[in-house]
Amino acid sequence: MPSPAPEPANAKYAWSTIARSAPPKRSAEERVGDFREIYSDYDEATVRAQASRCIQCPNPLCAQACPLANRIPEWLALTAQGQFLEAAALSRSTSNMPEICSRVCPQERLCEGACILNCKTDPVAIGAVERFINEYALERGAVDTTPSAPNGLRAAIIGSGPAGLACADELAKLGYRITVFESLLIPGGLLVNGIPAFKLEKSVVARRVDLLAKRGIEFKLGAVVGRDIPLADVRRDFDAIFLGHGAQKSKAAGVPGEKLLGVEQALPFLIQKNVDSALLDIPPVDVVGKRVAVLGGGDTAMDCLRSALRAGAKSAICLYRRDFANMPGSRKEYYNALEEGAEFQFLTNPVDILADKDGRVAAVRCVKMELGEPDASGRCKPRPVPGSEFTSPADIVLVAYGFDPVAFPEDSEFSAVKVNDWGGIVVDRNQMTSVPGVFAGGDSVRGPSLVVHAVRDARRAAAGIHRYLAPKLDPSVR
Ligand code: SF4
Repeated sequence: MPSPAPEPANAKYAWSTIARSAPPKRSAEERVGDFREIYSDYDEATVRAQASRCIQCPNPLCAQACPLANRIPEWLALTAQGQFLEAAALSRSTSNMPEICSRVCPQERLCEGACILNCKTDPVAIGAVERFINEYALERGAVDTTPSAPNGLRAAIIGSGPAGLACADELAKLGYRITVFESLLIPGGLLVNGIPAFKLEKSVVARRVDLLAKRGIEFKLGAVVGRDIPLADVRRDFDAIFLGHGAQKSKAAGVPGEKLLGVEQALPFLIQKNVDSALLDIPPVDVVGKRVAVLGGGDTAMDCLRSALRAGAKSAICLYRRDFANMPGSRKEYYNALEEGAEFQFLTNPVDILADKDGRVAAVRCVKMELGEPDASGRCKPRPVPGSEFTSPADIVLVAYGFDPVAFPEDSEFSAVKVNDWGGIVVDRNQMTSVPGVFAGGDSVRGPSLVVHAVRDARRAAAGIHRYLAPKLDPSVR
């Protein structure tokens, strides 16, 4: 159990005079030449100074804004005092993959966005400190992977993305024997297939999977439950099932010309540019020397822009129908994309994809938009500006309009799992589906969302599974 946080090094509620400093970042010129991570860690003196900027306010809004309720002020105080291993242990107590969340969370919308320092200056660099302390502990092997005593029950996890890995971890700690079924030959799901290595190195995910394997979790790769392995067998052999297979069905562009040569979906493009091609069966998309247009304004769109530039595109432009303020993608990654040479056209709605004489993409016809009244989601609804049509030249169009969960095959054993009108699995507050003993979480329930939300769902589902199975547990291990 991590020790409680000591009295902070800085005077109580005194505003620090130390300025926020960003973690080291490679130059844009260097980093567009490869797919390696762009950030590295602070040195020890800098991380202590940055952590000491926390004023230890009595009502830490950062922790409330973190979906995992991470004990941020406490581990910042430990870090400020140089107690990095203790800080990392505390960080791990609420998060199953803090070294991953710290890399991919949009902190400006979560913990750092809520930091009280924002009312006077820049927020504490919470994500970078979280990354440092966890890398520090992992590099020193200071992470306990001892398997828990078996409790006699088994759980199957379907999908090895963030939700699947976090649920597996939580249940393994409680003594369940866990098997993770992954349809691809590489574990990690979205963490390896969807998130480019320049944001999250594949080795970071592989290291997390290794830690879980050391804890006794079994991974069955290249195995599709419902196709290679009958669901009935899984139901017979396991006491509970967690569905964490994500949302990978690309939304269509919904405009004329979307079937033209040169129009590609974002996810296959990202997988192909980021995963060892020997493990893939996806036709390559060659962007070398080409003008790439990306439709959409989320994180996937920015990942496509930056991947295209690294893969040799001549230019990469984002066409997005709302304005910058209403763009769902991470601000940090937007500025990184700009530095790397990506262009953005806001309030621009693609309405037609035009072909050349050979039937290949030649341009995207767009209409300028203006923002109207807020819609049900609270965001201003864009409307076309009459007579504002123009064309944006393009050789390749990448459609990044988001994803829906892949539908269960009709008449399959999964058909009893209730889904909503867009295919999201319906769950109760314990994350249990309409089928008793079958739980779900992450993108398969909520649609495309953040890694940290998938981890939160998974932790809730693991607690729900443990409650559901309590009557079957030997009282001595309950
Ligand atoms: Fe911030 Fe995400 Fe870490 Fe929570 S998990 S402290 S939101 S970076």
